[in-house]
Amino acid sequence: MSEYKDTLNLPQTDFPMKASLSQREPEILRKWEEMDIYKTLRSMRKGKKKFVLHLGPPYANGHIHLGTATTTILKDIIVKSKSMSGFDAPLVPGWDCHGLPIELNVEKKIGKPGRKVTAEQFRDACREYAASFIDIQREEFKRLGIVADFAHPYLTMDPKYEANIIRALAKIIRNHHLQKGYKPVHWCLDCASALAEAEVEYAEKTSPSIDVRFKVVDNTDFWSRFDHVHKGMGPISIPIWTTTPWTLPANEAVALNPLLQYVLVATPSPEQFLIAEDLLPAVLKRYGIEKHTVLGHIRGEKLAGVKLQHPFYEKQVPVVLGDHVTVESGTGAVHTAPAHGIDDYNAGKKFNLPLENPVGDDGCYTASTPLFAGLHVTKADEKILEILRERGALVHEEKLQHSYPHCWRHKTPLIFRATPQWFISMDQHDLRGLSLKAIDRVKWIPDWGKSRIAGMIENRPDWCISRQRAWGVPLSLFIHKETGELHPDIFNLMEKVAERVEKGGIEAWYKLDAKEILGSDAENYQAITDVLDVWFDSGVSHECVLKERPELAFPADIVLEGSDQHRGWFQSSLLTSVAINDCESYKEVLTHGFVVDGHGRKMSKSLGNVIAPEEVIQTLGADILRLWVASIDYRYEISASKEILSRMSESYRRIRNTARFLLSNLNGFDPQKDLVPAEDMLWLDRFAVEQTRKIQQEILEAYSTYQFHLVVQKLHQFCIADLGGFYLDIIKDRQYTMQADSRGRRSAQTALYHIAHALVRWMAPVMSFTAEEIWQYLPGEKPASVLMATSYEELAPLADHEIMNVAYWEKIRAVREAVNKEIENQRNAGKIGSALEAEVYLYCAPNLKSQLDALEDELRFVLITSFAKVIAEHAGPVDAIVTEVPGLSLKIEATGNPKCERCWHRREDVGADAKYAGLCGRCVINVAGSGEEREYA
Ligand SMILES: [Zn+2]
Ligand SMILES: [Zn+2]
Repeated sequence: MSEYKDTLNLPQTDFPMKASLSQREPEILRKWEEMDIYKTLRSMRKGKKKFVLHLGPPYANGHIHLGTATTTILKDIIVKSKSMSGFDAPLVPGWDCHGLPIELNVEKKIGKPGRKVTAEQFRDACREYAASFIDIQREEFKRLGIVADFAHPYLTMDPKYEANIIRALAKIIRNHHLQKGYKPVHWCLDCASALAEAEVEYAEKTSPSIDVRFKVVDNTDFWSRFDHVHKGMGPISIPIWTTTPWTLPANEAVALNPLLQYVLVATPSPEQFLIAEDLLPAVLKRYGIEKHTVLGHIRGEKLAGVKLQHPFYEKQVPVVLGDHVTVESGTGAVHTAPAHGIDDYNAGKKFNLPLENPVGDDGCYTASTPLFAGLHVTKADEKILEILRERGALVHEEKLQHSYPHCWRHKTPLIFRATPQWFISMDQHDLRGLSLKAIDRVKWIPDWGKSRIAGMIENRPDWCISRQRAWGVPLSLFIHKETGELHPDIFNLMEKVAERVEKGGIEAWYKLDAKEILGSDAENYQAITDVLDVWFDSGVSHECVLKERPELAFPADIVLEGSDQHRGWFQSSLLTSVAINDCESYKEVLTHGFVVDGHGRKMSKSLGNVIAPEEVIQTLGADILRLWVASIDYRYEISASKEILSRMSESYRRIRNTARFLLSNLNGFDPQKDLVPAEDMLWLDRFAVEQTRKIQQEILEAYSTYQFHLVVQKLHQFCIADLGGFYLDIIKDRQYTMQADSRGRRSAQTALYHIAHALVRWMAPVMSFTAEEIWQYLPGEKPASVLMATSYEELAPLADHEIMNVAYWEKIRAVREAVNKEIENQRNAGKIGSALEAEVYLYCAPNLKSQLDALEDELRFVLITSFAKVIAEHAGPVDAIVTEVPGLSLKIEATGNPKCERCWHRREDVGADAKYAGLCGRCVINVAGSGEEREYA
């Protein structure tokens, strides 16, 4: 053997088998940095059709976690695939920099503003804090292989961005969507601030569950409202049920449903109760009342205005009506405190109830609150129960576990509390209706995103945008000291503020002397010191980024975030854009599910199932993480565990090894002179190129519909089945044994060259590092980076009218599988060693016979056996194996022929030429003659 080794073309490449991604990826990153890949791509794609993916800014706090990594990798895959499809696809990263979480962390370090440090020092510290995490996250994103304009990100704390936030608010005011209100908002006692809807979480809480009697003041008036009623003996009460006793000091009414049927019942005590009919059995059971008499029926609407005695204050409150009263629980009569609930507030507005809020910013009852002044609301329930008991107002008490709003940061229960706030009104100028129309025009992927966000917009309250905090963009409003009205020239005043902020940051606002811009009006006007809800900052990125940066465009082609952003950024971006432009800020929205562990559980420190992206990168490599992200159907929950990721490494290895096989067989191939024109290629090679062309179409389609899991499946399947299991297996013999420059070998290499060029481009958006590594080993003229390439267009089609078309080769492939199966059986039975020891006899129906005959003597190379004979005999001899291929039976026999030292085929003619004793006939021709000829395979 050794004497003929040099006559073989054995595969050879420096492309390493072992990936060692954790070492190799940083080298590739350095290379991209040196060539300034992002900038280069911008100039290469200049003038091409734009594709703008706009990203919602991550918050500049902490390290990135697996969720952020997933979102960002998906964005990067989209942008890279668009860029490789020839679009100019810029990606401008951004960071959200203001807001409470940063403020709270800075408070921990240096104390609250106004105490140990000045507000100015405090804001400086917040700015520094945000900047430090931007630097950290930027490096983390780069390490994931994200290609973006990291040198010029957008930062919401940039003075220019801050100024444009103020300008965006001014436009919203000009379009009449701003409203000043005194409204109940979710209020966190620990944050000492109003919270946005997106900052509210629901969690279980145990509360007192009490029924309180509100006594009817004038029984005669009450009875007169009934058509028929029996007059009972004892006092008449309308009991209410509540789980927030601390709101009773603010009670201003009891609400009934106008359309609901209520009954008046007499009890042995002999008190009379008015209760919703549907709830009567449950209520009586709760009160422990076994006997009762129905005295009369009445619809809620007839009781409007009935006067009731407040349970502990010397005041009377009316019965009011509201559709929000239901028979799900309680008594059908609802305690109404307009300062502490949205429904209550709405009822209060409708029925002109006082909106007195007895609870201060610190969570304590104000000094003017009788009985409870100075008491903190979280400690008030016991005292209120005590007073209710004393006054005989408590009908029933127990404990209840229920779902209750909590602060997402503090995990503490929130209260609803009316405070003067500024709102973007959903209805004042029909922002709700306009937004719903905009939602209709947007494409939502997956499509349930549409009904989800539409449902939220239909039901959401006005957006409270004011916060009583230090680290945020000032509302920059001036209101009249007496009337509370906005300054009539507010739009221009805000522009003047914006100009100053653009130069000096938000600090300029705090240093501003109102006289500078208001002139003599300054005496009559007061500046609002609130800052904007941080969701507003990121919400208006369409104004501050898309419209500001020339490389981008408004609206964005696509936005992509986790599905929690239907409630967050998708909504804040949409609402502000509609309020400013009367149109949506994005054309398509793609959402992915949450990242959970292998058992579908949320990742949390306490469960010990958190996977840090950094850890995966260090052990397996960023490309494994990227391949994992791409391989999941992100519409559902996204599972990650060590096992899942190591399975990913397995699949990565298959793809890498396929690429390595291609490269090693392209050794010595110079496309400039060795490339064979399609029509001169062997038929099998033309088929392989055609198959590649078809899969490329499918893969490009999957990319363009953002179905990356299909990209990965097809890529993987192509490597394993089409290449590894068929084509590459067959051409090994031709590659190794034919003359280096023969048509047969160059034809196969041409196919491998085309396949490699296509494959590396399919891989690039997902496995960017590995694709770049392969790229450097590919022969031929090419751009410096695979990311600069566009999809491969040199894949020649194989027409259907050709005799050896796709259908023909699919048939041959089926025959080969049937043969392989039987060879495997024979090997397992110990009758033959390797496939090359087998002689195959194929008994064929006429059609199949002529198809197999077409391959002439090359059929044995397709079957990878030393000998193959096609016989016209439909059923075959009795001992033939009937296969799954219609019209095919076969027999495998061990050959008695000697083995060729060079090609290992067992042929009769081995040793026929005495000069080359160990060689078969074709090897003699390849070694010493003009070389073997092949036409088909
Ligand atoms: Zn809080
Ligand atoms: Zn040979």
